[in-house]
Amino acid sequence: MSAPVRPAFIAAEAVPWAKAGGLADVAGALPRALAAHGHQPSLFLPLYAAVDAPARALDPVLEARVPFFGGRPAASFRLLRLAGGGDLRVYFVDAPGYFDRPGLYTDPETGLAYDDDGERFLFFSLAVLESLDRLDIGVDIVHCNDYHTGMIPALLERFWRHRPALEGCATIYSIHNLAYQGLYEPGILDLAGISRAEFRPGSPFEYWGRVNFMKAGIHHADLVTTVSPRYAREITDPELGCGLEGVLRQRGGDLVGILNGIDPEVWSPEHDPLIEVGYDARDPDSGKEVNKIALLARAGLEYRPGLPLVGIISRLVGQKGFDLLPPVMERIMSLPLQMVVLGTGEKEMEAAFAEYAERWPARLAVFLTFDNALAHQIEAGADFFLMPSRYEPCGLNQMYSLRYGTIPVVRYTGGLADTVTEVDAEGARGTGFGFTDYEPEALLAALGRAIAFFGRRDAFSALRRRAMALDFSWDASAAAYEKLYQVARLRRQGRPEQARPLLEELHLAAARGA
Ligand code: ADP
Repeated sequence: MSAPVRPAFIAAEAVPWAKAGGLADVAGALPRALAAHGHQPSLFLPLYAAVDAPARALDPVLEARVPFFGGRPAASFRLLRLAGGGDLRVYFVDAPGYFDRPGLYTDPETGLAYDDDGERFLFFSLAVLESLDRLDIGVDIVHCNDYHTGMIPALLERFWRHRPALEGCATIYSIHNLAYQGLYEPGILDLAGISRAEFRPGSPFEYWGRVNFMKAGIHHADLVTTVSPRYAREITDPELGCGLEGVLRQRGGDLVGILNGIDPEVWSPEHDPLIEVGYDARDPDSGKEVNKIALLARAGLEYRPGLPLVGIISRLVGQKGFDLLPPVMERIMSLPLQMVVLGTGEKEMEAAFAEYAERWPARLAVFLTFDNALAHQIEAGADFFLMPSRYEPCGLNQMYSLRYGTIPVVRYTGGLADTVTEVDAEGARGTGFGFTDYEPEALLAALGRAIAFFGRRDAFSALRRRAMALDFSWDASAAAYEKLYQVARLRRQGRPEQARPLLEELHLAAARGA
């Protein structure tokens, strides 16, 4: 272990308290993995109405006002600390006006995003900085995540750098999904205490006439990461750079891809309390069959031995690639397979899946809801997992699938390309099936290969065991973040020549993994 580091991890969501997507899994698991490596992390989250923690377990730590916030009356907040958080100190910013709402980002009633997103997360960012200043917990890394916290490195630099609690700390900015950037009208800078004079074309805060939190984070942080080596390369190209490829390219070697891990305790086919029966990599077939029977019963589909079951668990949004389905859906459903789909998202996409379920009621079941237990049951009961993403920063479900012996069928992009390898003709190597061109026919062909392979009983069983034996635990990723923190600290201490070889090691490891 390297010398203990005290990172403050700041995120808009983290399991088990609040989750909308993969960011929550990472923000829940990475600080814990770092604590297990002997570090002293803390985690800062907004206190949403949905936060899954009994009120009595939250101890008030401080009460303060957010500075610079345009002198608004609502600018005070409380910081609460979760009692019994173990090695990880978990803090919640309690600002009811902003966060005591039924959804995290969208109103579940209307399906529309809250329209004060920028103000809410700017408030959260300022509140966390003010808290770090007052808490005196000796933070040496401020680790920000996604657009919600993108303004923090700039704000820290301007307004808190001189404060004893933060003067030596380094900033890390992690991109979990570059497509969500946080674009707001210039007035948001007034609330941040940043002069409008800084809002000029080409400045770190300006992006096509609006303020862009993600751009500000990429520009100001000491180091920038994203969640897989392949995605780190992809986002410096216009195709997946979402307009920020130039800003990312300017950071050069300061952008590092580190593959996410998965939480092996939460996603454990042996000990998962949410599935019908546990099973392990030595002899998974009979256990998986029992889970499949239970899942099919829950989905109202008939169990037909020998017929493979394809699972989907996903946000139903453009990124996930399901717009590839309509042109080939007929032909997909003429393959010998059944399908179970769990997802929520865009209304049109939900409607398309609902229509498929009506059209093929005996072979396709759709759950248009967010259901964690069912997600586990699909991972355990399905034979294949379909993830044809248009782009995928890392993706977690393909790693959960591999661990559950549920063979992924993916588009080779981003983290999917880093974690799934094509099964070879002999069936002796590889862990899944995939395609590269974003074309319906290519998806159909990959799925067809997968279904055909299912018929090769022994080879399929060996493939399943091979997939389950892969290690995607957080250990390796946590070690990479440790090194990254060291690089950032050495640079802050004015020792760039010592930082350089460590950064090179990180890039080499990423190149090997990708
Ligand atoms: P993203 O973060 O882009 O949504 P990831 O694959 O990285 O995609 O992570 C998605 C996470 O959200 C996984 O843990 C997945 O199981 C979960 N998830 C997505 N949709 C649902 C749903 N409808 N019900 C339960 N879990 C879901």
